[in-house]
Amino acid sequence: QAKNKGGACFSFFSAEDDDLVEERLFLENDLRQAVDRHELLLHYQPQIDLESGRLVGVEALVRWQHGQRGMISPGAFIPLAEETGLIVPIGEWVLRAACIQGRKWQQSGMPPVRVAVNISTWQVRQPDFVDMVEGILDESGFDPQLLELEITESAVMDNVQEAVRILNIFQQRGISLAMDDFGTGYSSLSSLQRLPLSKLKIDRSFIREVTSNANDAALTSSVIALGRTMGLGVVAEGVETEEQLDFLQRMNCAQVQGFLFSKPLPANEVSTLFERSFVSSSAPPPVASEK
Ligand code: C2E
Ligand code: MG
Ligand code: MG
Ligand code: MG
Repeated sequence: QAKNKGGACFSFFSAEDDDLVEERLFLENDLRQAVDRHELLLHYQPQIDLESGRLVGVEALVRWQHGQRGMISPGAFIPLAEETGLIVPIGEWVLRAACIQGRKWQQSGMPPVRVAVNISTWQVRQPDFVDMVEGILDESGFDPQLLELEITESAVMDNVQEAVRILNIFQQRGISLAMDDFGTGYSSLSSLQRLPLSKLKIDRSFIREVTSNANDAALTSSVIALGRTMGLGVVAEGVETEEQLDFLQRMNCAQVQGFLFSKPLPANEVSTLFERSFVSSSAPPPVASEK
């Protein structure tokens, strides 16, 4: 069936690429064992509040420390995990690890930090998804108010009614919900309005050229305005330059995340960032807190 270009099985690869097919099978096999072998780990990327200039949250991002191949980024294995259903156990591991770490931060006396966890469409469709999340919260003792689940438009749009039901349960538990990669999907505004969201995350692809591409600038400012109208927080992801930051500040974007502030970091490096002011705001921090 590999000869059938565009066929259902290996449609990501060209017909000739037997090597890639083989590579994929190797990777899939290894990925199946990655959780048991403790090869997955989380890095955390700071989210900065633009008004205070302070770190207010982190996004947990999974990495795979492969025995032979070294560190593999999620872009290289999450799609495979989603195609094979392995995202379900991997996603559960991620949520558990993030909640355990969140609880450690909570106990270490740092200011409260919200921990955002990416949830894939597959996970949301599992009949025991709600129980799984509740179980991990109980088990870890992590404050639900500090947990944020990042979902995508595709996870909710093909069954809005069911998504609303599930997300309402989370909302009642105090868990926040963010719409990830916003602008890349097809959500209708009326469906969006029915979801108990607390945040929209503007996809990096719109921020990249926000200062040079008029369409990206228009979309970005519309999403910021939409968020304000709907009473939702807005986070811009992938902020890399001062110019992008300046644009977002002028548009009154609430939060930012990107390499300009920090790459995703190991957990132990996050705690050192609390004292820091990431943005030179109009009101400088009191002298006493400057080190
Ligand atoms: P995402 O959720 O949109 O996460 C943001 C991605 O953008 C991260 O890539 C992050 O490192 C990257 N990024 C952040 N700031 C910048 C920047 O300024 N410039 C550039 N060039 N990139 C930036 P990462 O860690 O490679 O993750 C890629 C995607 O993999 C994530 O996109 C998310 O969709 C998925 N992913 C990561 N961890 C998980 C997970 O635990 N579960 C699931 N289901 N998906 C995950
Ligand atoms: Mg995300
Ligand atoms: Mg995102
Ligand atoms: Mg994105």
